[in-house]
Amino acid sequence: MKIKILDIPPQGLEFTSLVPPSFLGVGFDLEGAFLGPLRFTALVHKTADQVTGEAQLAGELATRCSRCLTEVTLPWNVSFSVDISYQRHDESVDLTPDVRDEMILGLPVKILCVDACRGLCAGCGVNLNIKSCKCQCKE
Ligand SMILES: [Zn+2]
Ligand SMILES: [Zn+2]
Repeated sequence: MKIKILDIPPQGLEFTSLVPPSFLGVGFDLEGAFLGPLRFTALVHKTADQVTGEAQLAGELATRCSRCLTEVTLPWNVSFSVDISYQRHDESVDLTPDVRDEMILGLPVKILCVDACRGLCAGCGVNLNIKSCKCQCKE
């Protein structure tokens, strides 16, 4: 995820890359994962001490409905600004920390298979979207 500063022409550089899900590294414990690699695209410009631009990440997320635990896949994408300062002797700037942050912060906290998901019965555990149950829930 490094861009050589010398490679950025005055009119800007379009940078594309495929980001494997393993990019997030171990210790990533949210229940959910990216399906296949994410597409990363960025259009960056440089000034005397900064690389700036706009970037996008797009891919597909595989996770489970928070109510009924059905597996769901959904398109996922985020856009963010790149703004990295560099020193005179630096040869490249590294977009890795920015991309990793966006992948983590951009994950939805709660996902429902459908807005009106009825969830699982607290009594017998059946998926109430698929069938009704005979539990006499007294609340
Ligand atoms: Zn659901
Ligand atoms: Zn039940």
